[in-house]
Parts: sequence; C-alpha cells; structure tokens
Amino acid sequence: MNSEVQERQTEKMVSIDTAIKAAVSPVQTHESQLNTYRTELQRLRADNERYRAQFDAAPIGYLTVDRFMNILEANTTGGNILGNHHEHDRDQPLSAYIRSDDHDRIQTHINAVVAGNKATLRTTITTDGKSTPVMLYSTPVHVLGSDTCLCQTAMMDVSEHKAAEDQLRKANDSLQHTTHHDSLTSLPNRLFFNARFDNALLRARHTGKKVALLLLDINRFKNVNESLGHEIGDLLLKEVAQRLQHTVRDCDTVARLGDDEFTVVLEQIESSEEVSHMADKIIKALALPYDVGSHEICTAASIGVSIYPEDSINNEEMIRFSHVAMDRAKTRGSNYVQFFTAELNSAQRKRFKTESDLRIALRESQFELYFQPQLDLCQQRVVGYEALIRWNHPEKGVLRPDSFIQIAEETGIIEPLGEWILTETCLKLKQLREAGIDNIRMSVNVSAKQFTAGNLQEKIAAILEKTGTPGHALELELTESALLDNTARSIKVLRELRDEGIELSIDDFGTGYSSFSRLRELPLSRIKIDRSFVRGIPENQEDNSIVKAIICVAHEMGMQVVAEGVENYAQAEFLSHVNCDLLQGYHIGRPMQFCHVVSELVKNQ
Ligand code: C2E
Ligand code: CA
Ligand code: CA
Repeated sequence: MNSEVQERQTEKMVSIDTAIKAAVSPVQTHESQLNTYRTELQRLRADNERYRAQFDAAPIGYLTVDRFMNILEANTTGGNILGNHHEHDRDQPLSAYIRSDDHDRIQTHINAVVAGNKATLRTTITTDGKSTPVMLYSTPVHVLGSDTCLCQTAMMDVSEHKAAEDQLRKANDSLQHTTHHDSLTSLPNRLFFNARFDNALLRARHTGKKVALLLLDINRFKNVNESLGHEIGDLLLKEVAQRLQHTVRDCDTVARLGDDEFTVVLEQIESSEEVSHMADKIIKALALPYDVGSHEICTAASIGVSIYPEDSINNEEMIRFSHVAMDRAKTRGSNYVQFFTAELNSAQRKRFKTESDLRIALRESQFELYFQPQLDLCQQRVVGYEALIRWNHPEKGVLRPDSFIQIAEETGIIEPLGEWILTETCLKLKQLREAGIDNIRMSVNVSAKQFTAGNLQEKIAAILEKTGTPGHALELELTESALLDNTARSIKVLRELRDEGIELSIDDFGTGYSSFSRLRELPLSRIKIDRSFVRGIPENQEDNSIVKAIICVAHEMGMQVVAEGVENYAQAEFLSHVNCDLLQGYHIGRPMQFCHVVSELVKNQ
C-alpha cells in the first residue's frame, strides 16, 4: 500500500468521528435530512469497517503516533510486531519497544514528521526478548479541525533483509580473511604481513623502540613432504604455526610467507639480547619432536634476523637483510640464528655476482674439465681419471671449484652444470674409444644437491645412451652426507645406477660421520680415503692405523680403496705396503687438460 493510500485512509478514519458528531447534531431536525444523514452514517460505518479490515489485514504494520510517542492506533501486523498480545500492552509508548540508545533518533524522526515532513528510519523493535529489525516510513497526518499533526508510520519487518545483509557481510569478512590469511595455518599471509610490518615500523618511529624481523626456514621440510606425503607436510606446518604463535607475545606478529617460510615481527624491543632470547625460545619450541599423523618427526629451524633501526629503517631492505641472514643461517646448520651484519651483505652481493656470472659461464661454455689420473697398484697402470671442473673466467683466469661449486649448489645451477659435466665426461670417453682406448674409467663428482634432486638415474641413462657410453666406464663419486641423509632413497637410487653398470664410490671418506655398518647397505665399489688422512703417513702413527683399518674393513666388505692426495713416494710406498688398491695425487699426476690425457694414454699403449 503506497503512502498516499495510507494518508487517505487515516484522514477518513479521523473524519468519521467528526462526521458522526455532525450527523446527530440537534440543529438538523428535518426528517428527510435525518434520513440522508442516517444513510450517510451507515455508508461511513461500512466504509470504516472495510478500511479497518483492509488496514488490519495489511502485511505491513501501521501505527499512528503522537509527538510524545504515544501509540494512538495500530493495525494487527503493527500490534504483532510490537508483540501486543495483551490489552495492557497497548498503552505502552513506542519508546518502550526501542532500545534506550535509539530513543533520540526516534524522537528526532517523529519531530520531523509532526512538523510536516516525510521521514524514514531503521531501528529495532525489542519485545518479549525478541528483536525485530524494522524500517519505518512515516508521513504527517493532520487532525481535521485541529492544528495537531500526528505521525502515521508504516513499519516493515526487515529481518530477512537483515539476514541477507548479515550473510553478505560475513561473506565479505571471510573474503577479507582469505585474502589476508594463509588458508592452511590461518596465519597472516604475505600481503597482510607487509601491512602489519609497515605499521610496526611506524609505531616504532613514535615509541623509539626497536623492531626485529625474524625469517624462519624449516630445515628439510621438503624431505618430509616427499617421503611422508603432502598431508603430513601440511599437518607439520600447522603445528609449526601453532608453536610459533604460542611462543611469541601478543604484540608480535607471526606470518607464513610461503611453503615452509615463516616470519615473526617482534615489537617493543629494547635490546638485541631480547631478540636473541626470543629467537632461542622459538628454536627450542620448534625443535621438540612433532607427533603428526602417527609419525614422530624431528625438524629444526634456521633463523635470519634484522633489526630496526640498527640494520635499516626501510621495510623492504629489512626483509632483504633478514633473507641474507637466513641464507647464511641455513649454511651454518640446524637450529642456527644469524643476525644480519654489513659483512654478510657484501658477501651476499659477491654471491649474487658469482651466481649471475655462473649462468653466463654456462651459456658461454667457460667451463672445462681437467682429469687427474688414478693408478692401480695391482695392474701398475693408470686405470681411470677423476674429472675435475675448472672455470676459465674471462677476467680472473682459471678458477678451481672451491670458489664456485658451493654457490652453484645453493643456487641450483649445479643441476644444469652437473648435467654438462656428465655429458662432457661421456663425450671424452667416446673420444678415447674412438682413439682405440676402451680400458679407462672416468669418475665424476656428484653433489648432494644433484643426488637428492631426483631423476638422476634417468638423466644419466639418457646421457649414456646418447653418447654410446657403457655404464662400467663411468664412476660416480658421492659424499657420505649425500648418501646418508635419506638412506632408504639412496639405496634405491644407487641400485638403479648399479643396474646400469655404473660404478659408485664414496668420496672424502673419514670426514663425515658414516660408519661402515651403514655403508654396508649401499652398493659401493670403492672408498676414497680423504687427503687429510694420507697427508700424515707414514710418519703419523695414528693416520697409519686409520688408513690400514679402513683398507682392511673395505676389503672385508668387498670394496676397493683409493687414497687421495698422494704427494710423495713415501706415502705411495706405505699405501702399496698396506694393500691400497688405487692411488691418486700430485705424485701420480696433476689434474690435466684432456689433450694431455690422450697423449699420455696413447704414449703408454
Ligand atoms: P675432490 O673430489 O676431493 O677432488 C680432489 C681435489 O684434490 C681436487 O681439487 C684435486 O685437484 C685435489 N688434489 C688432487 N691431488 C692432490 C694432491 O696430491 N694434493 C693436494 N693438495 N690436492 C690434490 P679441485 O679440483 O680443486 O677440486 C676440489 C673439490 O671440488 C673436489 O674435491 C670436489 O669436491 C669438487 N669438485 C671438483 N670438480 C667437481 C665437479 O665436476 N662436480 C662437483 N660437484 N664437484 C667438483
Ligand atoms: Ca672427488
Ligand atoms: Ca675427495
């Protein structure tokens, strides 16, 4: 029903009384006039009843209210909204149904209407302990024959609209939450972290306190994901998130930036000792074993820290510095907290430069393989060569691997580089075969990163196939740590390589923590005794005993032994005396370019 209809209806009702009074006025005495009035009166009554019925049946609540909020009239729906089940309820003013803090708004609304204006208002009717959100559409109604103006209000129950609105708001809130939080851990995500971190720095500018930015890396998280599956990995991350949140204070922020990368912003910091203390607490909390999906997992974290304002006052720079520190912490091993320093930064810059130079080197073929001979004491001839990489740097000259292999490993360049080394070695073997030399084995150093990267077997098989190299002409040198990090997987990979006929040896033996009993499970052909043990023989009795013992046990286990770094005759003689199988070192021959290998082999044929 539109407002004009309501207006007419009310006017009509108010006018009925006046009309009845007029109809029975003693001044009107004439019989016909009286009849006319009676008819008119009946018509008016009928009209009134009809309007009353319509008025009550309307799905909208109607109220007539005076300026004191007295409810003069209400239709059935209006009464229902007000919860007027009892007669005595009807004497209550409108304010009785409205929360007291909304009274002023209601009064202003009514004042405006009785002053002759139309007005709308949204409020809540509270009755019988139930709240109904309503919309009020009010129009002024003039009482005939008086200058009193009443407020005629159509009252609409908008609970459903409200519910829809609430739903929309909730959906909006949850969208907000999703865009700002990580779905797995519910921690702030990178976007939200950036905003929180900016605010933390702003606050610190005012309070004069420090802010520490901690970047965390969960060590070997990839291993968990790969070996136990993503579900377990996810559970682990959730647990890490919870532990972090429980460890920090209310004023601190924990966020997840990516896979296993978490960050903590510590605010209101007075000294770097405080940061140290908090970082240690975090390390300890994360180092406790995790009980996830019936697995007990042990992991550790590496933490990089930068502090405002000492290290930087710029948020982006602080993030970068914490990264630099974290990268260093990772190389220092588990549970290590590294604070940012200016030296770290310059070292990092150097590394960035080396990294980009390495990529160029790979593209522009600046690498070259040198080959160091291995002498078989039994056969009294050179039976193999170890391929050792050199970098023909355009400015720095020939560089040895110590200055770049680690960076290549950390940056992942080792993978394409390693593939190049393997291919190049096989191509050289092919050249030897083409020169009629087929009794030479070449060994290639395989870094831990290459070994754990996966599909090494397939890559090597493809290279052997492409170059027509028989598997037994190739030997891979692996380090103890690469093999023992994940023994079950190592055994599988090594077996597959062995099936191709490839020989496997363990490099730098004695420098790691492996024991013979653990090595026994691996299909190895050879052990290479580290240079550091060979250096002391034959003068150093301890070294002599160690070397003798290694040779003895290796032979027991059916493996050959190569002594590395043999620099003089005395060492060679001792090693020969204790039944070492192969010698490698400057005394036998220095690493040399391939052309020299060919001429030497051809000469000795
Ligand atoms: P490594 O595998 O232990 O290689 C032997 C190192 O000892 C070589 O150093 C070799 O030049 C050096 N050497 C050989 N005989 C003697 C000796 O009698 N006395 C002394 N003092 N040193 C001797 P290089 O070529 O500088 O290689 C250093 C390390 O770099 C290697 O140690 C190996 O771990 C790594 N590397 C070399 N080439 C490669 C490669 O192609 N791939 C990978 N992943 N690593 C490589
Ligand atoms: Ca080696
Ligand atoms: Ca070695």
